[in-house]
Amino acid sequence: MDWLEEILIECPQCGESFAVQIETAVDGVVETIEDCAICCRPALLRITTTSGEVRSVEVEVT
Ligand SMILES: [Zn+2]
Repeated sequence: MDWLEEILIECPQCGESFAVQIETAVDGVVETIEDCAICCRPALLRITTTSGEVRSVEVEVT
């Protein structure tokens, strides 16, 4: 079973979209900081997962 899901997020700093891999093995809300693939500035991701699937993603400026 693969517990990694690739999601596309929109960078809050430059507005470009880029893909990140999210661990979905644990239900609940996970916060992680990912550097934007385009402008390299960090974005805070708040990801809600249930049953191994991503339900919602919020992106904030750190
Ligand atoms: Zn960016």
